Amino acid sequence: MADALQLREVSAHYGPARALDSVSLRVAPGEVATLVGRNGAGKTTLLRCVMGLHRTTTGRIALAGREITGLAAHRRARLGLGQVPDDRGIYHSLSVKEHLTLPHTDRGRGWSLERIHDTFPLLAERRRTPAAKLSGGEQQLLALARVLRMGSTVMLCDEPSEGLAPVMVQRVGEVLREAKTHGVAVLLVEQNLRFAATVADRHYLLDRGRVVESLDNSAVRDREHELLDRLGL
Ligand code: ATP
Repeated sequence: MADALQLREVSAHYGPARALDSVSLRVAPGEVATLVGRNGAGKTTLLRCVMGLHRTTTGRIALAGREITGLAAHRRARLGLGQVPDDRGIYHSLSVKEHLTLPHTDRGRGWSLERIHDTFPLLAERRRTPAAKLSGGEQQLLALARVLRMGSTVMLCDEPSEGLAPVMVQRVGEVLREAKTHGVAVLLVEQNLRFAATVADRHYLLDRGRVVESLDNSAVRDREHELLDRLGL
């Protein structure tokens, strides 16, 4: 089966400055891969290149075996690429239900409201609540739910655990594991290595725009101290 997402030797620049240097990585369907690295390593730039929000200079990006390198962001979204941005992309005046019913949903792939409510009972309870009244953790869950509702087969998440209470971090982890069981592939930027190790199958270490190591999750557990040190955490 084709990888859900594949990058081959992708480079990207800001003016003359190189932010990504020949990055190759892959995420299989139902797999979670993380991007870890110090501040400025290129993690957000990589997500933006995959989403079509930043132009790649060289290299190729493929979604389920189909090349998307030159496509506009909205066309990538239609092909199954979903982004949970770091600001969560929430509209404060809309209710939880409106967030889950207004976006274009793919009837074949998109999760039904019933399945969303089963996976996110908290959102079912709060369906009439305006998003402005949700906690940060609840907003994060809503952002994840919206991407699944739209039928994304590949989810890009930028630090979903950041600033959340431990119980909500745990909930986000449960949702990502549930998404995996439905074949969704996840590429996760995550500074919290302990959390990442509870959901990920594989980790890519980025340093100054290059993938310097690709590790199985078991290796992360064994080398936690060394890795935290390398990441400056
Ligand atoms: P952080 O964890 O701090 O968000 P990151 O790993 O996501 O870091 P990026 O934000 O992708 O890293 O930045 C990669 C490199 O590109 C850095 O050297 C950064 O200074 C540079 N960079 C990022 N955004 C811009 C921009 N808009 N203009 C110029 N340079 C930028």
